[in-house]
Amino acid sequence: MKKDTDFAGMKKKMIIAVDGYSSCGKSTFAKMIAREMNCIFIDSGAMYRAVTLWCIRKKFVSGSYIDMQSIVEGLESINVDFVMNPETNMYEILLDSENIETQIRSLDVAKYVSEISQIPEVRNRMVEIQRKTGAGRSIVMDGRDIGTVVFPDADIKIFMTASVDIRAQRRYDEFKARGIDIDLDEVRNSIVARDIADENRDISPLRRAGDAIVLDNSRMTLDAQMSWIREIIQKKFDEGRG
Ligand code: C5P
Repeated sequence: MKKDTDFAGMKKKMIIAVDGYSSCGKSTFAKMIAREMNCIFIDSGAMYRAVTLWCIRKKFVSGSYIDMQSIVEGLESINVDFVMNPETNMYEILLDSENIETQIRSLDVAKYVSEISQIPEVRNRMVEIQRKTGAGRSIVMDGRDIGTVVFPDADIKIFMTASVDIRAQRRYDEFKARGIDIDLDEVRNSIVARDIADENRDISPLRRAGDAIVLDNSRMTLDAQMSWIREIIQKKFDEGRG
């Protein structure tokens, strides 16, 4: 498929849902797709991480303690938004106007996020914001339940996976690149724990939608993944033109 396909010029509104396991590179992939399509990209995991950071800061979670009532009562007052960073051309997440893009990537947030994202009120609030953001325009959104719950009628659904060792190594390399000293086993355990929690929760568990296309990127470069998705988008685009 040609690299110069003009997805940015297409008339059809297109929703692309990218779901899958932790640390598969969903956000990097989804961001690249959105850039080519010149449409917005939403990292729904960042939203759940933002709520989790808010819970940690408010001391609503600590150890095995969760103050469910305070979380649910405070939810309405949380303001989660995205802003474009003109230097990186990337959307970054704001919590009550504070840019928390770096803070939400900590292991501490990773430790609690699956638990916080199981709270039905948290999910309802996030899904509402996600649907509003995608209303009436093209969007690429990544997460765990985008193709199953948030946009069940998405035009294209991708379900990403990769071997757990490869995922752990990639995440470990990211921490190292940011100068964070961390143990590879700790990173691996955190990923496995989140996979288990995300797949086994009662509400909106991580599942491959019946009509999702599986992408195992264990041995694929980002370029190869982009060539793969371009063909899929082109096909959808051609169908829509007919
Ligand atoms: O994608 P990321 O790893 O940043 O997501 C962090 C966590 O947020 C996931 O492990 C999952 O518990 C939760 N999440 C979710 N639903 C989504 C996106 C993320 O429950 N749509």
